[in-house]
Amino acid sequence: MKAKTFRTWLEHLHATGRLAVIEKQVSLQFEIAALAKKLDGKQAAFFTKVEDYSIPVVSGICSTRQDFAEALGTDPAGVIPKFIEAMASPLPCRLLANGQAPVKEKIIRERIDLLKLFPIPVHHEKDSGNYITAGLFIVRDPVTRKQNVSIHRLQVSGKDRLGALLLPRHTYHLYKQAEEAGRPLECAIVIGVDPLTLLASQASTPFGVDELEIAGALRGEPLEVVRCETVDIDVPAYAEIVLEGKILPHVREPEGPFGEFPKYYGPRSDKEVVQITAVTHRTNPIFYTIVPAGYEHLLLGGIPREASLYQTIRQTVPTVKAVHMSPGGTCRYHAIVSIKKRNEGEAKNAILAAFANSFDIKHVVVVDEDVDIFNMEEVEWAIATRFQAERDLVVVHGAQGSKLDPSTDNGVGSKMGLDCTVPLHSEPMQYLRISIPGYDQLNVNEYVNPSASLHALYRETEGQ
Ligand code: MN
Repeated sequence: MKAKTFRTWLEHLHATGRLAVIEKQVSLQFEIAALAKKLDGKQAAFFTKVEDYSIPVVSGICSTRQDFAEALGTDPAGVIPKFIEAMASPLPCRLLANGQAPVKEKIIRERIDLLKLFPIPVHHEKDSGNYITAGLFIVRDPVTRKQNVSIHRLQVSGKDRLGALLLPRHTYHLYKQAEEAGRPLECAIVIGVDPLTLLASQASTPFGVDELEIAGALRGEPLEVVRCETVDIDVPAYAEIVLEGKILPHVREPEGPFGEFPKYYGPRSDKEVVQITAVTHRTNPIFYTIVPAGYEHLLLGGIPREASLYQTIRQTVPTVKAVHMSPGGTCRYHAIVSIKKRNEGEAKNAILAAFANSFDIKHVVVVDEDVDIFNMEEVEWAIATRFQAERDLVVVHGAQGSKLDPSTDNGVGSKMGLDCTVPLHSEPMQYLRISIPGYDQLNVNEYVNPSASLHALYRETEGQ
């Protein structure tokens, strides 16, 4: 399996020419983020020499759909079906003994100083400081003992202190329960795992589902985990780095601003605080960072959202073919949906189902199955030639949306759906796409002479 661990995946990227090794010294401040962003969508970046640190930094390990497809052993069209299948059949983890887990090679319990230990970058101009952006945040439900995994932005607020943005989802729910009882919530922050475990952490699951078990299902074998030193949490045994700690009850400290996925800054405000209790890592660990709003960040959020959106629309419109949360819409706000329309009005039902699936979804475009929804020029063509606002536009005002969308009123805004499907009983010629017979089968290379000399062609016609 190519995506067995962080390192086997890096080896796969390297072997296929998709790992840029940067040996020139780089600064933690902006330079790592700038270079990783230059390579975004093309190559992962491996920074061997970070100023003032001996530990290397990696970014961009999965920044295309093809990367995720390869990790899953499928093609890009197979990614969503595989993800849906994994969500339906989680695979329990396998607990290893401490001595078997590489992440326990080094254990630090005292004088923890995160910025001295690890090269944690500053990414964007107005960011409040150094941020851990790619830490799997693992907590445990004390009643069911099921774990929950998510990713939260983590500001380095002190030597052994992090400021966390916990949105009102599963981690936050467990934290509030603990806080109401006057207790901290134990947690572990895991840095440097395989791309499938990373992807699984973003699954839209009901409360109570352990995302590490979805990782196991995606991998096709149980994820190997090990128990932490100071907290009752199990973490991936082959991770590069684990920070153990607890979210403190009744403590809030300033966090932010921070450059977020919509390519704007999330504001500064008082947020929850994580106190670090121990650090464990491999002998020569690699630090991993996700550059916010890059393709890696967008796709990690987008692919699991597509899986969930596809399932919701299928309940209403069984002939849904595919869904796409497009990068221009930050892989959150724009949904492109293709359906095989059998009944008039189904496209509008698909629009309503998409709005119901996630409050983040703001604009929905529904097209017929002949339109390639991953080609935005095709989508724009469908809007241009198959849509009439008078009959095909759906608008809902005053609905909840994303608070990170600056055009909303603290999250409240309008939703818009565009039905770009062809009317079922239109004249056959009216919407017939032009086509050239033989085009699809034709191989241009069989016709073109790549070594033809242009000068020779000119000379033949000289004097005429
Ligand atoms: Mn969850």
